[in-house]
Amino acid sequence: MTINSPSSSRPPLPRSSRPRFIARFGAGLSEGSAAEAPSLGGKGAQLCELARLGLPTKPGFVISLEAGRAAKGEIGPALEAGIEAALGWLEEATGLSFSDATRPLLVSVRSSPPISMPGMMDTLLNVGLTREATAGLAMRAGGNLAFALDCRRRLLPALAEIAFDIEPDLFEEALDELKEERDLREDSELSAGDWAEALERFERILEEEEAANLPDSPREQLALAIKSVWASAEGARARAWRSLHKLPQDMGAAVVVQAMAFGNLGPDSATGVVFTRDPSTGAPGLFGEYLPQAQGEEVVSGLRTPRPLSKSAREALGGRAPSLEEVAPGAYADLAAACRKLEAERLDVQDVEFTVESGELFLLQTRPAQRTPRAALRIAADLASEGLISRDEALLRVAPALLERLLHPGVDPSARRETAARGLAASPGAAVGEAVFTAAEAEALARSGRPSILIRAETSPEDIRGIYAADGVLTARGGMTSHAAVIARGLGKPCVCGAGEMRIFENEGLARLPGGRIIRRGDPLTLDGTAGEALFGAMPLIPPPQEEAFERIMGWADARRRLGVRANVDAPAEAEQALKFGAEGIGLCRSEQALFSTGRLTPLRETILASDPHERRAALEKLGAAQRADLEALFRPMAGLPVALRLMDPPLHEFLPKTPEEMAETAASLGVSAEAVAARAADLAEFNPMLGRRGCRIGVLYPEIYEAQARAAFEAALDLGPLAPKPLEIILPFLATRSEMSLLRRQIEETARRVLDEWGAPPEALDWRLGAMIETPRAALRAEDLAEDCDFFTFGTNDLTQMTFGLSRDDAGRFMRDYIAAGALSADPFHVFDEVGVGELMRLAVARGRARKPGILLGVCGEHGADPEAVSHFHEMGVDYVSCSPYRAPVARLAAAQAAIRSDRAADRAKEAPPES
Ligand code: ADP
Ligand code: MG
Ligand code: MG
Repeated sequence: MTINSPSSSRPPLPRSSRPRFIARFGAGLSEGSAAEAPSLGGKGAQLCELARLGLPTKPGFVISLEAGRAAKGEIGPALEAGIEAALGWLEEATGLSFSDATRPLLVSVRSSPPISMPGMMDTLLNVGLTREATAGLAMRAGGNLAFALDCRRRLLPALAEIAFDIEPDLFEEALDELKEERDLREDSELSAGDWAEALERFERILEEEEAANLPDSPREQLALAIKSVWASAEGARARAWRSLHKLPQDMGAAVVVQAMAFGNLGPDSATGVVFTRDPSTGAPGLFGEYLPQAQGEEVVSGLRTPRPLSKSAREALGGRAPSLEEVAPGAYADLAAACRKLEAERLDVQDVEFTVESGELFLLQTRPAQRTPRAALRIAADLASEGLISRDEALLRVAPALLERLLHPGVDPSARRETAARGLAASPGAAVGEAVFTAAEAEALARSGRPSILIRAETSPEDIRGIYAADGVLTARGGMTSHAAVIARGLGKPCVCGAGEMRIFENEGLARLPGGRIIRRGDPLTLDGTAGEALFGAMPLIPPPQEEAFERIMGWADARRRLGVRANVDAPAEAEQALKFGAEGIGLCRSEQALFSTGRLTPLRETILASDPHERRAALEKLGAAQRADLEALFRPMAGLPVALRLMDPPLHEFLPKTPEEMAETAASLGVSAEAVAARAADLAEFNPMLGRRGCRIGVLYPEIYEAQARAAFEAALDLGPLAPKPLEIILPFLATRSEMSLLRRQIEETARRVLDEWGAPPEALDWRLGAMIETPRAALRAEDLAEDCDFFTFGTNDLTQMTFGLSRDDAGRFMRDYIAAGALSADPFHVFDEVGVGELMRLAVARGRARKPGILLGVCGEHGADPEAVSHFHEMGVDYVSCSPYRAPVARLAAAQAAIRSDRAADRAKEAPPES
C-alpha cells in the first residue's frame, strides 16, 4: 500500500470554473474533497472527503460559502431551486421523503465555517420532523414511539429558540420536573407515554410564549434552520471567537444538510467521539467515549457522563458500564478500521464524531485533532517513525514554543497532597493559582499578573476567555471531549473535568466538597491535570520527566540544524540544567551574578567605594579566592565546552549600599566613618546610570576590577586543567570604540601573562579568547574595526534593541500596551525581535565583521535567542550560535532545525523555478 500518495490512483477531482453552490456527498458520490474547505467549509469538505474515501457516512449536501455570501441571509429562487434538486437526490438516495409523512426524511442542518469554531454556531438535528411525521417515524422504527417522540422533543426547543428566541432552559426545566414527578433519572428510562406528556408540556410552553405557530412543514423548518446557521455566523459568540483567534469577521459559513443517523434508536444505537490517538499523551490506539441511546451534542456538552470505547479502556478505568466494543463489536471494529484509514490518508491524527444506528457505524465529522504539546510531539515523532511522514515534516509539525510548556512543572511527588476534588485527567501538567468561579474573575486576575484556577459546573463556549486567562480549569461535569478539555489541551494548560462530587455556587463564589469542606474564591489551589486532581493549597511544582519522543525529535533536530545552541547560565545548577536540555556550552555568564552573589556584596561595595586603586586592590584581594572557587564550580559541568564570561556590566550604582545598615557595614569593613561612605556613594550618583559608568567603562575607569575578574577566571581554568572550558571566552560588554577594545585587550592579555608566570605554566595551558558584546549601534557600525581585536562577537539583543530604539527596557513595560494600542508600534521589540531595524544593524555588523575577519565566531545572547521567529532570522544572517535560558534551549534547537529545513526548501524551490526572463 502506498500511503504517502493518497490520491495518485484516484480519478482527478471535478473542477469547475464557476463558483459551485451545492456539493453532494454520500451514497457513492462525492462532489468535493478535503482541499475544498475554503468553499465548502471545514466540516463540509471533510464530509465530502469521507465519502470520497468510501468511508461510511449519511448522504447529504453542502451549500457553499459562495452561495451563502450571494444569498445575504435569504434563500433566493436560484438557490432554492438548487436545494430542491439536491433534496430530490437525497430523497432518492435514502428512500425517504420530505413530503410523504409516512416515510419522513430527517436531516441535520450544520454550520461549516472555513476554519473550525467548535460549538460556536448553531446545528439543528431532526429537521423535518413535523407533528404528522412523528407518527410516521415511529412506524418506520418498528412502532418505537418513544424514539420518535424523543426526536421530536429535541427538535422543538431548538426551533423555538431560533424562531422565537425562547430560552431552551424552559423546556429543560419542564422535562426535569416531569422526571422528578415520575422518579426517573435517565432520559432513556422515559416511556412513550412519558415523552408524550413531556411534549404536551412543551406545547403549552410554546403557547404561553406565543410561539405556537412554529413551522410545521419540513421545507419551512429546513429554510429556517439554514438561515439560522447563516445568522449564527454573525452572532456574538462567533464574533468573539474570531476576534480571539484573529480570524476575518467576514469569514462566513457553509451549511451542511445531511440525513440523520439515529444514535437514539435503541440499545445498539449510540453516539460518540473518537481520537485516532490519545490527544493527551499521543499514545497510539483509539481514544474516545460514547453514550448509548443519545444524539449529537450530548457527548460534548457534559450533561451525561460518557463511557469508554474499548473494553481495555473500561477495565483500566474500573468502570462497570459496558464499552462500545462490548455493546456493538461490529461497529467498534469498523470504527477502528475507519480510523486507521483516515490517519493513513490524512497523515495526521483525527478527531472523529460518529453515530451507531442499530449497530451500523456512520462517521459524521472528522478533523485534525487538537492535542496537548506532549501529544503533538509524540504524534509527530510516531508518524515519522511509522513512515507516514518524513522526519523534516515531523520537525515542522511541532511548534517550538510548545516545547517550553512541555518542560514545565508537575506537582512534586514528595510533597504531602491533600485532595480537594477528583475528576478526569483531561489535560496534563500542573498549575497553582487562586480559585475563581467566572471567566471575568480569571481575566481580572490575569491582568494583574496573578495565576488563577477557573472552577465551573460545566463549561460553555462563553467560558473560553476564562480558560485563556486562567492557569488551569476544573469542572464538575463533562468528559474528556468537553469544550473545557479540548481547549485546555490545545493551550497546554492543566484541566480536570467531571469532578462530580463538587457542588458549585458561582454567585457565592464557592464550591462545596463532599465531607463539608469548602473552596472559596481567592483560596490557593493546585491543579494536577496529570492525576486528574485538585489539591488544597499551593503545592511545590517540579519539572516533568523527559519523554522518549522528546529525545527522538530533539535528536532529529540536532542532526538537522546548523545553528549552535548555548545557554545563559549564572550558577552551577543552571549549568547542569543547560546540559540536560542540550546546550552546547555557555553563551553568556554574567560575572557579577556568578561572582558577587549574596555574601560577597560587602567586599564588592568596598571595591567600588575605595578611594584609590590601592584600597581597591586590597578589597578585591578579599574576593580573590572565593571568586575563583565560584567560577570553578560553574565551569566544571561544562568541561571541554565553550564558556563565555562577561566581565562586570551593570551600572555601579546598582551595587551601592542603600540602607543605613548597609552603609554601616561597608564603613566598618573599610575602616572609615558611615558619613564618608555616604559621601563617596553620593559622589558616584549619576543622572542616567544606564548610560553612565557601566559596561566596559568600569574596566577602563577601574582596571583593578576587570583584572581581578579575569584573573579569577584564568586561575579557575588553570586549576581545572583538562576540565577547563574549551575555550574560555571573555566578553567585554557595552563597547562602542576600537580604542576601548584595544586598551582592554592589552590589560587582559597582561593579566593572562602574569597569571601564567605565577603558575609557571606555558601559554598553551590557557585556551582563551576575547570578544565584544555588540550592543551599542556604534559597535555594530564599526564592527570592522572591532573585529581586528576580537576573536568573537556576541550580539546582546536586549541592549541593542534598547539602544537602537532609544527605549528604556525598564520603563517601556509601563506604557508599551498603550503604545501598541495607539498603533505607534506593532509589537513590543523586547519580546518580538525587530528584524527590520535591529536586524538590519546586526546584518551590517555580521558583514563588516566578517569582511575584516572571515572566521570570526558570531553568537546571539538575550531573550530573543529562543524566540522561534528570531532564531530563523539569526539563521538567515549566518550567525554561528544562539544562547538562551536553559529551559528554552530545546525551543532554540527545534527552531534552528526548522529554520534550516525551511531555508533548504526555499533554496530547492528557487533551483526548480525557471529563471526570470
Ligand atoms: P459542531 O460544529 O458544534 O461540532 P456539528 O455540526 O458537528 O456541530 O453537530 C453537532 C452534533 O450533532 C455532533 O455531535 C454531530 O455528531 C451531531 N450530528 C450532526 N449531524 C448529524 C446527523 N446527520 N446525524 C446524527 N447526528 C448528527
Ligand atoms: Mg461537530
Ligand atoms: Mg547588555
